[in-house]
Formats: sequence, structure tokens, C-alpha cells
Amino acid sequence: MMAAATELKVQGEIRYDEPMSRHTSWRVGGPAETFFIPASVDDLAAFLQELDDDIPLFWHGVGSNLLVRDGGLRGVVISATKMSKHLERVGQYRVRAGAGVACTTLSRQCIRWQLGPSEFFAGIPGTVGGALAMNAGAHGGETWERVQSVRTIDRSGGLHERTPDDFSIAYRSVKGPANEWFLEAILRFDPDVMPSMDDMKAMLERRRSTQPLGLPSCGSVFRNPPGDYSARLIEAAGLKGHRIGGAEVSPKHANFIINRKDATATDIEALIEHVQQTVLDAHGTSLKHEVRIVGEARS
Ligand SMILES: Cc1cc2nc3c(=O)[nH]c(=O)nc-3n(C[C@H](O)[C@H](O)[C@H](O)COP(=O)(O)OP(=O)(O)OC[C@H]3O[C@@H](n4cnc5c(N)ncnc54)[C@H](O)[C@@H]3O)c2cc1C
Repeated sequence: MMAAATELKVQGEIRYDEPMSRHTSWRVGGPAETFFIPASVDDLAAFLQELDDDIPLFWHGVGSNLLVRDGGLRGVVISATKMSKHLERVGQYRVRAGAGVACTTLSRQCIRWQLGPSEFFAGIPGTVGGALAMNAGAHGGETWERVQSVRTIDRSGGLHERTPDDFSIAYRSVKGPANEWFLEAILRFDPDVMPSMDDMKAMLERRRSTQPLGLPSCGSVFRNPPGDYSARLIEAAGLKGHRIGGAEVSPKHANFIINRKDATATDIEALIEHVQQTVLDAHGTSLKHEVRIVGEARS
């Protein structure tokens, strides 16, 4: 017998009408109808087994690549931030990392273990789950270059072991079996690469000097088009500092949109569309956004 989310008993925490602005790095977004923080994989599997098939499910890491519209998200948002926090060395060059582990934690621990290349993970302010979903990357490193296998969970709570062959992987794009989400990954590092805490700190310092890191953003909004940089195209189109409502194209880094003050998701989405149109008119290049835009417009 299937059930609505409101009828289900869980060990973790369920919140209703949870403002997604609390769970996105842009600090915007309407409410999630149901926000579930499972206590464990078993708790999540039991919840999924009972959940009505027609209830929309959305997976959330820490929202560092998400624009949730002001009308919010229908159905259930699953947050992996409490479960799947394990991080352990499982071989000379291999690590098992839960989806809820912060990429910065992964980076620091791998450097302590002398497993590299791993410094680049420190530049990604999301979770391992989000990095797997996005094929997040920085400074020449990409998440899926390190993946040996992943464990996923499906809509009925079933668990699967998958390898990269089950996925189509590209720049900031991962396509795999429908209705499966990441629980953990086995990551493999290179025997002859010695990572360094100093290199990682220097990389973070470079980012601080070139990116508006103190202000709410989602990092780079647009993918780089082949052979060019979105930031260059946006700056050359004269858009640095352009504002709509509380949203602004960062004067420091043109591929960042920052929430200056009380921006809404509507402001940010309107600015994204304005940038796309202006760059298309100026350079004939169609920019694709890297950030995931989800949810309902405010009615
Ligand atoms: C200041 C700043 C700098 C950034 N720099 C970089 C950078 O250098 N390189 C880079 O690649 N990104 C960068 N980002 C973007 C972001 O950090 C990454 O995309 C990150 O991987 C998102 O992880 P998250 O946990 O926040 O995912 P979320 O934003 O919560 O979710 C992103 C997507 O992943 C899906 N997802 C999340 N968890 C899972 C899961 N367990 N299973 C299946 N799907 C899941 C969500 O449904 C959503 O579609 C930056 C962001 C900020 C704010």
C-alpha cells in the first residue's frame, strides 16, 4: 500500500513548507512541499518503498548549483546531508566517499592520505553527491575522472552498484539510469601524484582574489562554450555590474551572478535570460546555463 509523504513514519526529519532559500547558496527559492532528511540509507529506502509513485522527488546536496524558483518545489526534496557522511580509505589508492561528504572535506582528507590529484575538490563548495551529478570540476580536475564505481538508490528503494560505463559523462553533464540517485562513490587516485596542502591553499587564495566568494552566488552560471570562456563573452558584452532587482552580474567575475540584496529567484532567472540574449546579440554565441533551474514560478 503506497502512501503520501505526510503519512510516512521515518527515523529522520521531515519538514513541511521548508523555505529552499535556507538550502541554496544564492539564498533564494520558495518552499519545498516536503523536505526529508533521512537518518540512514535504510530509513530512506523504507520511505521510498512506501511513497506514492506520482509524488515528484528531487535530490538536494547543499544547493550550491541550484536556482529554485520562488513558487518552490512540489513533492519531496531528499537531503543527503546527514546520511552518507562516511569517508574511508579502502585500498592503497582508493577511497569510499558518501554522497553527503563535503568536497572540501574529501580534498583535505585525501591530501592527508597523500592521494592525488585531489586538491581540485577543495574548489567545489558542494557535496560528493552533487559533484557526481554535475561532473563538477576545477583547475583541470573533474569528478568522474576519479570514479571507479558508484552506489545508487532507485525510486523503490532498491540499491545498485554501477560503473562509469553505465553513464554518459561530459563537461558538467552526467546522464545515467533514470530515477536513480547517488549514495556513494569509490574514487581512485593516481599512484605517482603527491597532492599538497600548500598547493590547495594557494588555489583557494587565487579563487578568493578573482571570484566574489563572500557574496551569495552559485559559482559560474554558464558553461564555457567550446574554445571560449563565458566570463570573457559576458564582460565583452558590457554586462559586468548589470542588475535586475537584487541580482547583479558580478563586477569581479562576469560569469558569477550575485544576490546583492534581497534578490528573488525571478530576478536571477531574468538576469540569466538577459545575459543569454545580450551575448547572443553581441557575439552570436548561445550560452547554456550550468546551474540547475527547478521549481514553480510564483503564481
Ligand atoms: C562560490 C562557488 C564556486 C563554485 N565553483 C565551482 C567549480 O569550480 N566547479 C564546479 O564544477 N562547480 C562549482 N560550483 C558549483 C557547485 O558547487 C557544484 O556544481 C557542486 O557539485 C554542486 O553540489 P551540491 O551538493 O551543492 O549540489 P546541489 O546544488 O544541491 O544539486 C545540484 C544538482 O545535483 C543533483 N544532486 C545532488 N545530490 C545528488 C545525489 N546524491 N544524487 C543525484 N543527484 C544529486 C541535484 O538534484 C541537482 O540537480 C561553485 C559554486 C559556488 C557557490
